[in-house]
Amino acid sequence: MPQPIARIITDIALDREFDYRIPEQLLGRVQVGSVVQIPFGRRHARGFVTGLRDTSPFPDLKALHDVVDAPPLFDESMLRLARWLADYYVAPFEQAIAAILPAPVRREGAKFKEQLIVRARSESAPTPEEVAALAKRSPKQAAAWQELLQTPEQTAAALMAASGVGLPGLRALAAKGWLTLEKGVIRRNPHERMQVLPTHPPPLMAEQTAALAAIHEEMTAAKPRVVLLHGVTGSGKTEVYLAAIQAALDAGKGAIALVPEIALTPQTMERFRGRFGETVAVLHSHLSDGERHDEWRRIAAGQARVVVGARSALFAPVRPLGLVVVDEEHEPAYKQDEAPRYNARDVAVMRGHLEGCAVVLGSATPSLESYRHARAGKYRLVNMTQRVDEQVMPMVRVVDMRLETEKAGGAHLISQDLIEAVRQRLDQGEQTILFLNRRGYATTVMCPLCGHTETCPDCSVKMTYHKEAEFLLCHVCGHTSPVPARCSAPQCGAPNIKMAGVGTQRVEAAVRKIFPRARVARMDSDATGAKDSHAQILGKFRRGDIDILIGTQMIAKGLDFPNVTLVGVIHADLSLQMPDFRAAERTFQLLTQVAGRAGRGDVPGEVLIQTYTPFHPAVQASRRADYTTFYDQEIELRRELNYPPFSRLTTVLFRGLEEANVNTAAKDFAERLQKLLPAGVRLLGPNPAPLARAKKQYRTHFLLFGRNTRDYIPALREILTSFKPPKGVAIAINVDALSIM
Ligand code: ADP
Ligand code: ZN
Repeated sequence: MPQPIARIITDIALDREFDYRIPEQLLGRVQVGSVVQIPFGRRHARGFVTGLRDTSPFPDLKALHDVVDAPPLFDESMLRLARWLADYYVAPFEQAIAAILPAPVRREGAKFKEQLIVRARSESAPTPEEVAALAKRSPKQAAAWQELLQTPEQTAAALMAASGVGLPGLRALAAKGWLTLEKGVIRRNPHERMQVLPTHPPPLMAEQTAALAAIHEEMTAAKPRVVLLHGVTGSGKTEVYLAAIQAALDAGKGAIALVPEIALTPQTMERFRGRFGETVAVLHSHLSDGERHDEWRRIAAGQARVVVGARSALFAPVRPLGLVVVDEEHEPAYKQDEAPRYNARDVAVMRGHLEGCAVVLGSATPSLESYRHARAGKYRLVNMTQRVDEQVMPMVRVVDMRLETEKAGGAHLISQDLIEAVRQRLDQGEQTILFLNRRGYATTVMCPLCGHTETCPDCSVKMTYHKEAEFLLCHVCGHTSPVPARCSAPQCGAPNIKMAGVGTQRVEAAVRKIFPRARVARMDSDATGAKDSHAQILGKFRRGDIDILIGTQMIAKGLDFPNVTLVGVIHADLSLQMPDFRAAERTFQLLTQVAGRAGRGDVPGEVLIQTYTPFHPAVQASRRADYTTFYDQEIELRRELNYPPFSRLTTVLFRGLEEANVNTAAKDFAERLQKLLPAGVRLLGPNPAPLARAKKQYRTHFLLFGRNTRDYIPALREILTSFKPPKGVAIAINVDALSIM
């Protein structure tokens, strides 16, 4: 006897599940994950079934109206994961459900696209005489037939466009028995325009073989341990992932590979598609809704067994799941910035745990969190220290810009050493990447007399100067203003305001001046707004049509250009100046990543790091590509200050248009919470966030540090249930926050 009561979570934001009676005629058709229509108050609503039961604690249950005729959207183990998400990240349950299901799948009316499909019938093909006769009577029908002979299966729309025939003409041909005309599903295919040649796995190097063996051991273990694959850039980690995924497929299972959004390049997709072909599905936010829906369904139906994607691809309905890979596991991009604010890397570990499947975290610069687990034996550490094909690690030199300024009698953007190095590459026909962790022409507009800088009136951030259109822009809210003629500080007002700071546009201008004949291109999110121009610049660079590529983070990751033998970092200190305890870790990661772009071909690479703080541990460690020394130093600092990974950080942010309301709410909340916190939990604040104003809203936050999140989350939740913030004040809770902006 099927259970007669369904527990249901609705789309309506209530963070509560409700019980409904299943009418007799629907018994057996309602399952966990089913989408149902329910009466809700005086309205109708949609809901997802989260459980079936025999009895309900609630009296007088209403009956659900209908069940949507489609396979369930999630199963018990995904449901468990969603509950964990809501629980751990302190988010309403319906938001967790929304996180595990892509909107184009979850939404009402989500379905495959159906179209009329024409197929030539080979078994009843016309004779040449019949075709000739048709050509006299109806040239358009004959043209359609000729066209169909070229492409025996196509959409009616395509055939009509190509031949000029109308639908009646096609129906006439169908009546003759020459072709069939049927409704069919058209797959909206994100790979449609991608031609990929099949590749074969290369014989693995010794370290790769050992890494694969370790992963394989965990894949077949009853309780797999997480593998942390620490491999220097170019050590062939991706090749190890591909081999491990192949092993999962061989065992009749599927796999998910997460890469940071920024690394989801055609090049990355080609590597997966070249090896695994059509069974690769891709999921990320740049797909059209139709593509996302169809890719997700293809995975759910088992037609695609390897999923490559950004953050949310982690929730892909791969069954059974044999392996999850998280590449560049240290990447802050894995953190979702709206509720539930999950870290896909950590959720991957949880999903692996719930489903008993192996998880591989890979990085050249593992997060301190993961490496500490590995050191403690909680994760299995696998090292790859050699570059593939004995390519040597690039030579890294640190250029002390303070000496440079002295020598040159003033601040310069590009040192003599770097100029020499670039010139050498130009002479040898090799390529150079110049890297800057910032965008815009000049970061700020500064008064040379009083030091006042132009700041956005709505956000507490500096405006950046954009040279092409001569205006100032706020990168938080998009506010623009003209460049002022004189300093806007009331007590000053001096003329001759000056551009200070460094931006990619200024680097470009300087480079063009020094090397007038070099082919130079710039790539950052300003210069490359359109999705395609990105790929175009990279394509040109790959073909050797560009000598010097200047860019931001965007070019730091994952790209593999064999002819790049020089990487210059213009201003390594920029990322050290962030108001964040992870600044050194981020800088080290960034410098190492960037350095890894040099010397990926036969010629050894060279990296020049220009900096005003040459002896900073992050700079020094990246110079020697020495992760463990950096780790050992940095972890001691964190231990002394009791920062993560020795504690768990949660930020609680209050924001709204009324400053007073925001501050009162934060203060009230913090005071009430403080009373419930156990000893050992620190509450810092409330204070204005470093980004104290954004999009006109005031932002005030407090920070919670505890040994474990469960030391303070229950108290936090208790206040939340009764706390009514003033109107217009929103609360954002960020568990395991990666940034305190
Ligand atoms: P990582 O992900 O560690 O940066 P990749 O997997 O991208 O390294 O490998 C770097 C380069 O070496 C790629 O061009 C890749 O195709 C190549 N490569 C990797 N493993 C092998 C191998 N076993 N034999 C030959 N070439 C390899
Ligand atoms: Zn602004």
